Order: sequence, then C-alpha cells, then structure tokens
Amino acid sequence: MTKKKSLLLLILLLNMAVLLSCKSGAELSNKKPTINSKNSLEKPYVLLISLDGFRWDYVERFKPPHLSNFIKNGVRAESLIPSFPSKTFPNHYSIATGMYPDKHGIIGNSFYDYKKNLTYSIRDRVMVEDGTFYGGLPIWIQADKANMVSASYFFVGSEANIQNLSPTYFHKYDGSIKNDVRVAQAINWLQLPPKNRPHIITMYFSNMDDTGHSFGPNNDEELQKTLFALDKTLGTLFDGVKKSGLPVNIIIVSDHGMAPVSISNFIPTEIIKDDDLFLTIDNGALLNIHPKNKDQTEAIFQQLKAKETNFKVYKTINTPGFEYIPKNKNWGAIQIIPDNGYYFSSKRGIEYRKKNAETVVGVHGYHPDNKEMQGIFYANGPAFKKGYIIPSVKNIHIYPLMCKILGLDIPTNIDGRLTALENVLSNDK
Ligand code: AMP
Ligand code: ZN
Ligand code: ZN
Repeated sequence: MTKKKSLLLLILLLNMAVLLSCKSGAELSNKKPTINSKNSLEKPYVLLISLDGFRWDYVERFKPPHLSNFIKNGVRAESLIPSFPSKTFPNHYSIATGMYPDKHGIIGNSFYDYKKNLTYSIRDRVMVEDGTFYGGLPIWIQADKANMVSASYFFVGSEANIQNLSPTYFHKYDGSIKNDVRVAQAINWLQLPPKNRPHIITMYFSNMDDTGHSFGPNNDEELQKTLFALDKTLGTLFDGVKKSGLPVNIIIVSDHGMAPVSISNFIPTEIIKDDDLFLTIDNGALLNIHPKNKDQTEAIFQQLKAKETNFKVYKTINTPGFEYIPKNKNWGAIQIIPDNGYYFSSKRGIEYRKKNAETVVGVHGYHPDNKEMQGIFYANGPAFKKGYIIPSVKNIHIYPLMCKILGLDIPTNIDGRLTALENVLSNDK
C-alpha cells in the first residue's frame, strides 16, 4: 500500500472510531437531533479552538509556522484578558457565554455551592456534566435555540445538559484522546450533508497548559517541543478546513497564561484551614473562605489578617481582581490571595512536587491585569480582516462576536459587548 493510501485508511478508521464514540445532544435531552433550518443553512461557520494555557507571547517567542501564517493573514489581539480567577473552567465558560464568572456561576475550578450545599470540582464527572451548575446560554445552546446544528470536541460546559439542551454532537471529556483524532472528527463534521453539518464547532487542546505547568513558562526547549507538535496538528486542521471549501471562520483563544513559581514559594493551604470555623476552597491563587457562622465573619477576618505573610486577606467586596461588584454568594465572605511568586497547595501536593525534584513549575489564577496571566485571540476566515492587530481585549467579548458572525441574537444580559471586538470584522460583510 502506498503511504498516501495507508494515511487515508488511517483517517477512515479514526473517523469510524470517533463516530462510534460521539454523543449527541439528543441522547441527553430525549429530543430529536437538531437539523439546520433554512435560515441557518445560509450562515457561515465558526470553529472555536481553545489552546489551554497558551500565553500571549508564545507565538512571537517560538514562531510556529502554521499559527504564524494563520495570524499573518488574519487578526490578532495583543493579548486576551481572562476573567478572575484566571483558571480553566471559569474562563472557558466566560468565552462560551460572554459572562463574567460571577454571573455564569462557574467561579472556580472548585467552588462551594450554597443552594446545593456541596463543593463543585472539575474532577467530579457527575458535577461537570450537571447542567444546573451552568448559567447563561453557551454559544452552542444559543445556536440550538435558533435551529442551528452545533458540535464540540471538548469545551467546558459542552457535556452538560444546560436548560435541557446540548451541542448536537459532542464528546465527553477524555484528555487521552489524541489531537489527530479530534482534528479528524472536526474535518469529518464539516463533510456532513448541509442539514446535519454544524455551523459552530468547539475544540480544546490542553498541551501548552500541561507543559507550562510541568516546566514553567520559561523553559524554552520544552515549550517549543510541545508548541511545534501542536502547530503541526493545527496545520492539518487548517488544511482540512481549506479543502472543505466552506466559509469557515476560525477563532483561536486561550483561557489564561502561565507564571513561574518556585517550589519553595508554595504555601501549604493547611496553615489557613480551620474546619470548625470556616470552609476553605483552594484555587491556588485564590482561596474562598466560607464562615460556618455568619456572625463570626469579622472575627475570622481579623484572625486570618493577623496571619498575613506572603498572602493578603480581603473581604470579598474589596478583593482586587474583580472589575465588578461581586454578587455571587458562592465566593464566600473572605478571599485570600498569595503575593506574586507565591501559590497555595496542599501539603501533600507540595511533598509530591518535591519528590519529583521539581524546582520551578508554572501556575495561573492570578489577577487578569498581570500580563503573565493573559492569553491569545487570533482569528482567520472570510468574516475577518487580514493582517489586523488590535489591543488587548477581554474574553467576555468573544461571544457577541460569534453571535454576530452566525446571525444569532445576542442575549441582553451578557457582560460582553459586540462593540469591543466588532472592528476585527471585514468591511465587505
Ligand atoms: P487548570 O490548569 O487546573 O486550570 O485546569 C486544566 C485542566 O482542566 C486540564 O488539564 C484538563 O485536565 C481539565 N479539563 C479541561 N476541560 C475539561 C472538561 N471538559 N472536563 C473535565 N476536565 C477538563
Ligand atoms: Zn487552563
Ligand atoms: Zn492550567
């Protein structure tokens, strides 16, 4: 068999495997799979790709060929500003909904939920798939409501049944699925008959976050290795999209950046904890403190304040990082923030890192104004200008931009504004 033929066979086999494992929104909601309405058939396509933990400066530092070419012929923001805290779940869901975490409800990778009286965790599959945690109308739901087919090869919230709706096709998160399989599936979706073909597709790749955490954002050798492998995968995806001949607008984003922290600067969360008096929720760069008895809030605040060393203690309302008045009860009454260069972790977590002979690792979660926490916004396709650079922009504004391209209504209760990003759209449209 020639090399080309074996490659085609491999892609075919991958596609078959992928289709067998693909879930449909209908499976979760007992409703018929969505098909595109006449109106939706006329709309262009949006492919939203998230590269977890991809810091704003990586492309300029390492010059990966496919991404560099993508940017050269498209749009780039100086950086993408995350919402606070700059963690994976809150920010992916801000990108998906156009809302700050305070409003959409996923306020951390872990958070305490007063209404349910339990602690949400991204490692708990039942909770990750429980749509009642997720507020707002993620872009795939907004599409579904307009009878537009949607698909997801991973994105925070996409596996949950939100308002009894899901993407038309989706996969439950499994980080071990190879990137090539994800790409083959996305290309395959674009080859479906027009009625079944998704107009909004989300994808997710965790590689840069994984390497950034393990080696820190200053380890050029490791970052470059991971980035170039990812770039090759993206090159295949761009090629497949081009071959489809469809008007696909690709938006590449990240949820946050990465900062180095020395293992000796990890603060054991146990020095804060007092399970009799309050619940402590640890997001590394932010601890939420929930007093068990509301009347003791002031005493707990003073007690924690007296312990301040390489961290600061705030009443929630005075916490730096929020650019709005936090209203969500689930933050708790008090917040603790480590100083720059410090990070909270359990004693066990710190011991584990020390055993692995780690000296510097990468972390995130800090104030979004910290440039190291900022990510990427790149876009390319018929809807976008070419060779256009804009200043840093907040991630909540991507949602209304996607709605505009897809011809979907922009919900009035979101935090993002179309005017913040509209200038990236080509004037010919
Ligand atoms: P963090 O760096 O701690 O903010 O979180 C990054 C991790 O989130 C990744 O390494 C993934 O393992 C995990 N993750 C991303 N998307 C999902 C998802 N849809 N479901 C469960 N875990 C996810
Ligand atoms: Zn992340
Ligand atoms: Zn991370």
